Amino acid sequence: MKHSSLIKPVLDGEYPMISHGKGVYLYDTDEKEYLDAASGAVTANIGHGVEEIATAMVEQAKQVSFVYRSQFTSEAAEALASKIAAMTDDRYTWSFFVNSGSEATETALKIAIQHWQEKGKPKKNRIISRWMSYHGITLGALSMSGHPLRRERFTAILESYPAVSPPYCYRCPYNLEETSCGLACAADLESAIRRIGPDNVAAFIAEPVIGAAGAAIAPPDGYFPEIKRICEKYEVLFIADEVMTGFGRTGKMLACDHWGVEPDIITFGKGMSGGYTPIAAAVMTDKVIEPILNGSKSIMGGHTFSANPQSCAVSLAVLEYLEKNGIFEKAATAGVYLRNLLDKLASRYSFIGDVRGKGLLIGIEFVKDQKAKEPFPAGIDITNKIIGLAADNGLLLYPAAAGLDGVTGAAIIISPPLSINKREIEELIRRLKNTFSQFAETLL
Ligand code: PLP
Repeated sequence: MKHSSLIKPVLDGEYPMISHGKGVYLYDTDEKEYLDAASGAVTANIGHGVEEIATAMVEQAKQVSFVYRSQFTSEAAEALASKIAAMTDDRYTWSFFVNSGSEATETALKIAIQHWQEKGKPKKNRIISRWMSYHGITLGALSMSGHPLRRERFTAILESYPAVSPPYCYRCPYNLEETSCGLACAADLESAIRRIGPDNVAAFIAEPVIGAAGAAIAPPDGYFPEIKRICEKYEVLFIADEVMTGFGRTGKMLACDHWGVEPDIITFGKGMSGGYTPIAAAVMTDKVIEPILNGSKSIMGGHTFSANPQSCAVSLAVLEYLEKNGIFEKAATAGVYLRNLLDKLASRYSFIGDVRGKGLLIGIEFVKDQKAKEPFPAGIDITNKIIGLAADNGLLLYPAAAGLDGVTGAAIIISPPLSINKREIEELIRRLKNTFSQFAETLL
């Protein structure tokens, strides 16, 4: 090969080339059909090839595609900010638009630090995060991420942020039972804040449902209300990283809405455009922005393409599509249907340890021994073996880390477009069943 776009992380073997997509299906240039049960990277929330998004794209391009954010705002950017405010019941009235989830979490980090600086508390600059978390691949975002495989090459230049245990009930870090644990994992945040000193802590960041670093780990119901209580007690901002979960992935607009918890800052990405354009955001409440408005009046952040009108118009069209088609409600219903079928399927295979998640963000953790929850031996890449077999069966799955050390576990995420219908879910299950049966044969 004389040239390559270098997009594939593993530079060996054949790499299928995509031709087009429609709904939940993608087609490669050999006309092979894939049911996209991963939505790419949990992104293609309204499915592929939606014509009205292409129309919005063209209309905006005719109007204006680019202005520099320090010179102009645009109708598209303002309309998108208004839409997000309306979709969050006017709780998040301030949006800072960037281009990727990593930039969004870095922006949230910087806004949190700036918030305290402008309140005259410059020492409040540490961010607490959890092991088994993923907040992005750029260095600030990776510093906050408890994802050993993605950190290990760069640890020398990362901050050592992750400090707190995850609410991983399948393998409780404290060996406790969910019914009687007293939420020891949430209490761990309080210990960390006290250890570091509340005067030094700007914010706590967490994914409402842990994605890539844990395969759809949803916490016990009391967890986030307790986290919010602790954050308020010690004047620590709570940042919810909803890059993966926001805009309906878990069956509600925000995953935090499941627990009635209101973060101070939320990050969005992925589903915010459904993959139709690169765009992400850090959005915040009045309380967060006030000291900045009363102080320097300028957020120290942003990129050349921040609030790009083209991207804002496309994102707006996607959000309107979500509302117009009642996609959040559909995702909630589809999530229950898919989960029931997955639970039934799981009971047939000894290598399935846990099925978990919320809405259409569902994780499956694989084990060698169900009872002992023993992982497969190191060196056998079970996750990629299953993902490879699934692709052969025309089914796309998303890999995830699992295990308390974030390394020894094997897991996948199933996260089809939120628009998936009953018939397509049944087709997904058929292809998954073939995949699991073929994998079971390799274990004999
Ligand atoms: N935050 C979460 C929760 C994510 O799942 C991801 C990506 O998987 C990111 C941040 C980083 O987003 P991006 O890959 O768009 O930089």
